[in-house]
Amino acid sequence: MSESAPQASASGGPEIGPPLWLLAELTYRCPLHCVFCYNPVDFAHAGPELGTDDWLRVLREARAAGSVQCGFSGGEPLLRDDLEVLVAEAHRLGFYTNLLTSGVGLTQERAAALKAAGLDHIQLSFQDSTKELNDFLSHTKTFDLKRRVADTIKSHGWPMVMNCVIHRQNIDHIGTIIELAVELGAEYLELANNQYYSWAALNRDQLLPSRAQLQRAEALTNDYRQKLGDRIRIFFVVPDYYETRPKKCMNGWGNVFLTITPDGYALPCHTARMLPDIDFPNVRDMRVDDIWHRSPAFHRFRGFAWMKEPCRTCPEQEKDLGGCRCQAFMLSGDAANADPVCSKSPQHYLIEQAVARAQLPDAERVDAKPLVFRDPANARPASRFFEP
Ligand code: SF4
Ligand code: SF4
Repeated sequence: MSESAPQASASGGPEIGPPLWLLAELTYRCPLHCVFCYNPVDFAHAGPELGTDDWLRVLREARAAGSVQCGFSGGEPLLRDDLEVLVAEAHRLGFYTNLLTSGVGLTQERAAALKAAGLDHIQLSFQDSTKELNDFLSHTKTFDLKRRVADTIKSHGWPMVMNCVIHRQNIDHIGTIIELAVELGAEYLELANNQYYSWAALNRDQLLPSRAQLQRAEALTNDYRQKLGDRIRIFFVVPDYYETRPKKCMNGWGNVFLTITPDGYALPCHTARMLPDIDFPNVRDMRVDDIWHRSPAFHRFRGFAWMKEPCRTCPEQEKDLGGCRCQAFMLSGDAANADPVCSKSPQHYLIEQAVARAQLPDAERVDAKPLVFRDPANARPASRFFEP
């Protein structure tokens, strides 16, 4: 496929910088079934995975286009037995390499091979500090394994980076999650409050915390920060449902981030696949440089010309670029609308309704929908998720 479009921003804005951050989603396969999984809800219907040679070519093309960081994720990237080959090539090309893993498959042997291949960084995810909830939320018995994997990571000399997605079910455990990170010798802990896309959007009613839960968790995190000092760096990512302005999503559409899906589609963020009416290019048909600079999909929401009111004339538009296109689509039905997190959005009431419901105690929410686990049997077409 060869499409022509301007090299500079379609909106007449500044020149387009390089895709500094490459996210290589090697597979949608995963032994876990997390209720907040960020993979698409129709992941089971994706096309065949790219082969090793395709990925090697993508790495070379992305590096030539200016990428400097490469994250290998999935699903579970360790399910690819060519992971070491890909890491070695990324390392040879000069990428800073990062593996995002559930830990399943990270044996001593594979860790040694990945170390030899030059892997710089591993991020290990936990679902909770307790075995019961960790295993419930992932619908697997993986808690003990993750603890062993943390030791493996340390024993090979990598910094220990622990990630835990935070939501209504586990937010009251924030203290013990921090203590687990300390016990495992983590240098970094990312407490990533759930954002409501993909499987987390399906399960929002059960995952969105109350304001009181959130405030307690943030205060406790600050207490631990003071107590622990330089021993561990703790990142606490606030959920945008409790804001009145949206985040500058992915630092701007097609600005820094490039995601390649297991079946080769190039996306400006890992959830953009849900957006209808956008013909996302595929690395099987088009070179990375052409995708980044010349594909209509990557120009679609660059700059400001695409904006509708209230963003079009908003004095704050440079701060947040209108927020997240996926959230705008999910909640308003039109990806070119303002992100409904913004209090100026006509659909902001949908966020307020969800937040108001989240304040009710669980005993008064007996009509909450049961959790849907990420599983091929539960896969469904992507949709708006929330009807006004
Ligand atoms: S969020 Fe859970 S189910 Fe989804 S890819 Fe990660 S480990 Fe697998
Ligand atoms: S109206 Fe649009 S540009 Fe203005 S603050 Fe809200 S989301 Fe941002």
